[in-house]
Amino acid sequence: MDRAWAPAPECLNGCEDEESADVQIAIIGGGIAGLAAAYELERARAQGEPVGYTLFETNPRLGGTLASEIVSGTVLERGPDSFLTEKSAAAELCRELGLGGDLIPSNDAARKTWIVVHNRLISLPDGLMFLVPTRLLPTALTRLFSFSTKLRMGLELLYPPRASQGDESVAALVERHFGAEAVDRLADPLLSGIYGGDVTQLSAQTVLPRMVEMERKYGSLTRGMLAAHRQVRTHAKAPVPNAKTGGVAIFTTLRGGMQQLVDTLVARLDPACLRVGTPVQSLERSRTGWRVEAGGKSFLCDGVIMASPAWAAGVLLAPVDPELGEELCGIPYSSSITVNLIYDEASLGTLPEGFGFLVPASEGRAMLACTFVHRKFSGRTPPGKAVLRAFLGGMKNEPLLAESDAALVATVRRELSEILGAKIIRPDAEPEHVQVSRWRRAMAQYAVGHKERMVRISARLTALPDLRLAGNAYDGVGIPDCIRLGRQAARDLLALKLDAAASSR
Ligand SMILES: Cc1cc2nc3c(=O)[nH]c(=O)nc-3n(C[C@H](O)[C@H](O)[C@H](O)COP(=O)(O)OP(=O)(O)OC[C@H]3O[C@@H](n4cnc5c(N)ncnc54)[C@H](O)[C@@H]3O)c2cc1C
Repeated sequence: MDRAWAPAPECLNGCEDEESADVQIAIIGGGIAGLAAAYELERARAQGEPVGYTLFETNPRLGGTLASEIVSGTVLERGPDSFLTEKSAAAELCRELGLGGDLIPSNDAARKTWIVVHNRLISLPDGLMFLVPTRLLPTALTRLFSFSTKLRMGLELLYPPRASQGDESVAALVERHFGAEAVDRLADPLLSGIYGGDVTQLSAQTVLPRMVEMERKYGSLTRGMLAAHRQVRTHAKAPVPNAKTGGVAIFTTLRGGMQQLVDTLVARLDPACLRVGTPVQSLERSRTGWRVEAGGKSFLCDGVIMASPAWAAGVLLAPVDPELGEELCGIPYSSSITVNLIYDEASLGTLPEGFGFLVPASEGRAMLACTFVHRKFSGRTPPGKAVLRAFLGGMKNEPLLAESDAALVATVRRELSEILGAKIIRPDAEPEHVQVSRWRRAMAQYAVGHKERMVRISARLTALPDLRLAGNAYDGVGIPDCIRLGRQAARDLLALKLDAAASSR
């Protein structure tokens, strides 16, 4: 490794046991993106590539927002509870790690989603494909929409193709096609549940690219969605078949919770390469490499994979490239809270069928969503137990994060009782266990203009080929996206550096 700096006495060149490696890579951030990158480098090392790496993580634990706990046989997820099956990178990694037998499909046969409207639960009509109604009768009969919205949904079939006129908010796109009520009762609750986001800010081009394309090609989103569905049915393969429906499960999780993926990944890494409880404090770059300051020591390396949230990456990279730093710091993030309540089922009335409900912002509640965890996946709880998981916060309700655990639990219990009814959540029904988790600035928001921002970021990165970005701020917020980006970053950087090392010999 060619060094521009004379190493200080305390300088470590990546993993101590990898002094001989030609290429040293620093990974900053030990969430799923950083761990996936480390796993890829570890694999290359096992195949004899001369690479060493050091992963730095601020927190004492690895995994970032993936964090589960097993309480009396019940799997409680503090962060994500599953991943989208159709994005293959997560299930592929699980299989590679020998976890294929522990993948559990969501119980889609029992799937039913409720929307809270004026304190009552109204189910999403059949035939709704994400935000787009595709079946006439259920749309005509639903109580979710007023007559004028239904009429508008019918007339939407006649929309002519429309070329994109630049980015706009998700709310603007949905309102143009289906009206303001569809924004309030569909787009807002569905996207708040995924992004904790604000539909008036989220980018249609980035969050709903298929719909922007459908509008360009078909005009009507309903016609576009039906055409896409016909194609999917023709070509679909079932990566994780659902035992009940025989089809592809929408979500997949792991028997031991998402923590099982973290634990299995970490077990494959060399402990000497992991620096937990060690935030990176600064970065410097010379013509030949990087100096990483962390835990009072300097680490010299040939390349950096930045897998921290973009706001942290922006601060570290500002001295290297102020424009890049500014762009990264400009990516907004939302904060959220999850509250898990374990109940003895006998203490509850009968919950409505399905996986849970979503709460539009217009309802003025703290809760954005509630999942009936024991229904969504099999084997989450011992028989006779129920887990209700509330999701709170989001862009519109950040101050909730300052409330005490007791206040948050009290709010959730009150709102559950008001929404589901006091016969189901009796005021005297005490949960057997409560768990509150706060996630500050954890979920990137793809705001209007995100695509253009990514073009500007890519342009800055061309001058920094030994730097790669991975994580939820760039090209997908879900776990599969983060895994894909982490592995890709490691592969690309390693290939580049091995080529450079070979040509300098
Ligand atoms: C409540 C919640 C529920 C979710 N549900 C789902 C779901 O069901 N399915 C799904 O697919 N996705 C879900 N997501 C999204 C998904 O979990 C995240 O997008 C993904 O886990 C992000 O991974 P990451 O590695 O990019 O970032 P993170 O997990 O945020 O990891 C980044 C790490 O970088 C570290 N770091 C920061 N600064 C430094 C520094 N200076 N030095 C060293 N380390 C640093 C942080 O401590 C952190 O551990 C959910 C997210 C949340 C918050």
